[in-house]
Amino acid sequence: MDRAKTSQWRPATRAIRGGTWRSEMGETSEALFLTSGYCYDDAATVAARFAGEQDGMTYSRLQNPTVAMLEERIALLEGAEACRTQASGMAAMTAALLCQLSAGDHMVSARAAFGSCRWLGDSLLPRFGIDVTVIDATDNAAWEAAIRPNTKVFFFETPANPTMDVADLEYICGLARSRGITTVIDNAFCTPALQRPLEWGADVVAYSATKLMDGQGRVLAGAVCGSEEFINEKLLPFQRNTGPNLSPFNAWVVLKGLETLDMRARKQSENALKVGEFVAGRVPKILHPWLDGHPGQALAHKQMDACGPIFSFVLDGGREQAHALLDALELIDISNNIGDSRSLMCHPASTTHHNMGPEGREAMGVSEGMLRINVGLEDPDDLIEDLDQALAKAGL
Ligand SMILES: *Cc1c(COP(=O)(O)O)cnc(C)c1O
Repeated sequence: MDRAKTSQWRPATRAIRGGTWRSEMGETSEALFLTSGYCYDDAATVAARFAGEQDGMTYSRLQNPTVAMLEERIALLEGAEACRTQASGMAAMTAALLCQLSAGDHMVSARAAFGSCRWLGDSLLPRFGIDVTVIDATDNAAWEAAIRPNTKVFFFETPANPTMDVADLEYICGLARSRGITTVIDNAFCTPALQRPLEWGADVVAYSATKLMDGQGRVLAGAVCGSEEFINEKLLPFQRNTGPNLSPFNAWVVLKGLETLDMRARKQSENALKVGEFVAGRVPKILHPWLDGHPGQALAHKQMDACGPIFSFVLDGGREQAHALLDALELIDISNNIGDSRSLMCHPASTTHHNMGPEGREAMGVSEGMLRINVGLEDPDDLIEDLDQALAKAGL
């Protein structure tokens, strides 16, 4: 359907109907095109497609109708000119960075980040001659101080996993713009339902769609959104030749997830606020961007529509007490996934941030007593009862 028309729709309508390409069968739900290749009526047609003179599919590493529907829908939700999807969130982050960085370039990235995102900057990019400076993303002055003449990219997430650090999108993106630096924002915690970095001046928004976009713990998926120019000139040459493609089946599952994204993101945020208020009264320290005492609270209220499903808290008794609490849970699952409709809890120091080592974790603020929770769609009173008994068993 005409993009000029679909981009007039309000977000809830875009999430359901955006990017629907009906086939001649007139199906209601999006069709699942499990095909790697395409056939042509004649040789001139395929020649015209390869020459870029005619629209149409040629090979599923380059285009697939189900994948294209998802890309159009995500772009509409994000308010981006274009989007391309990848096989996982990490494939998306890797593509978003490697497609534009070269030997001799410099990147500034946030200290508090998803473990594998830190690995890209700490271990992968330096092997290819790309220098990386890691800073505290909540310190606006640190961004400016880290800029060098060859700085090409600012890379960060907000709120950050698992410390819930909130970075100032408007300031950092504005600074980057004024210096010709491209901002790449990992928006997995919020999705466009809760935070739209492009509205604050970001250039590129990258996703793990595995999280809140699917929202039901089924498939791995990733996405990169940006201008037509960035996607066509930087991302596509990289993606089409290296092949981190999303399977059409997984794309179809995420399309279905997006239909309920807005409702889930809002309801899970509401539940996370209620559960957070309960937990705050029982533990020594809580890292919840919507609650008093969080240093990024005012900023979170400015740039996010709601708190999102995730928050962390810290116990004084270290790993032993944190593990005891996890082991006492009866309803909430021990799981390191997030964004799921089920409530899940994990101990970052021994799971998602294990590879960073003790010093790396200490610098990032990931302590041995920290637990992270993803609040799902269950009745929050059942979650509070489960946490109540588990906290008691862990001595709180
Ligand atoms: C999960 C996650 C990723 C990685 O996504 P995958 O789909 O697991 O590859 C990247 N960034 C953040 C913030 C995440 O939560």
